Amino acid sequence: METDDLTDAKILYLGWTAKPGNDLAQGAIGFIYKVFPASTYAFKQNVARAGNIQLMWHGTTRICTYGDDPKKLYFCKDSKCSLCRILQWGYSLKKANPGGLLGKGIYSSPVSSKSSQFCKNTKSSKYQALILNRVVVGNTYKTTYALNNSTAPPTGYDSVSASGGGGLVNFDETCVYDESMIVPCMLYMYKAP
Ligand SMILES: [Zn+2]
Repeated sequence: METDDLTDAKILYLGWTAKPGNDLAQGAIGFIYKVFPASTYAFKQNVARAGNIQLMWHGTTRICTYGDDPKKLYFCKDSKCSLCRILQWGYSLKKANPGGLLGKGIYSSPVSSKSSQFCKNTKSSKYQALILNRVVVGNTYKTTYALNNSTAPPTGYDSVSASGGGGLVNFDETCVYDESMIVPCMLYMYKAP
């Protein structure tokens, strides 16, 4: 997906690759919020250097009920609430798993149903929270094998991508190894199937 061609509800549905019984219902979206990232200076430099900006989803853990009520948009203070921390301060490699399939980086996907698998609520809520991001994909290294323990893309590349289809991964995903290669832009609150 390219940036700025789809900015509303449609984008969630278009990225939803449903398995049987996993269709996203019409009217599943409760709220869509615009996110104003804390700092975009380094991100903009990466955009100018590497280009190829893509819209990608990221699902994460939500300890609080941020987003459930548009009148109560206050970030919680729990360091384990990855949702609030990402929206407040941006992504952090400190949270990255070194043993991840593509290494120690920040993962995102154009497939919303895939990213939704990583949305985890610890408090009861009728919504899941999924973040739409701008990602500097740049010149991406397309891998067909795992790159566990990588901490950077191969020389000459800006990111690493794995294509879906039953080989290495079922659905496309991209990994960046620099926190300033990805910024949140929208937050989608939706009812999971
Ligand atoms: Zn929170």
